Amino acid sequence: MEEKDYEIVGLLLSGFSFKQIQLGRDVWQTAEVGGVSLEELKDYIQTKIDKDIAGRQEMLEMAAKQKEEVEKLLPRCPECGSAFYVRSITIPEGPGNLYGYKSHWFCSSCIYEEYSVDEFPELTERIKKILVG
Ligand SMILES: [Zn+2]
Repeated sequence: MEEKDYEIVGLLLSGFSFKQIQLGRDVWQTAEVGGVSLEELKDYIQTKIDKDIAGRQEMLEMAAKQKEEVEKLLPRCPECGSAFYVRSITIPEGPGNLYGYKSHWFCSSCIYEEYSVDEFPELTERIKKILVG
């Protein structure tokens, strides 16, 4: 490669780190040894990217659906009306839990929270069922 060409390639790849360039070389060499053309390599990489994006989109949609289902079960925050979540407190009554609270209610939007000595096993079980299946 001539000095001028070397500089042009360097400029073209200046957005990549040294490690990324090395990785690119390894990928390209492996493909070349396997008889894979540049077009086939580009297609393969693009297909992987597309599948990855679709998979992430699907996961986000599933998470949004689950959140919606869970929020239907929950009471509303007395301060702002958003979903009022509950979590169990497993620390037994003692120095770490002076009042023997069994549950912690908290708002999904504001900082409002409440503690309760009651447990809500049916509600937490229904939420778990939606989230875990
Ligand atoms: Zn609130």
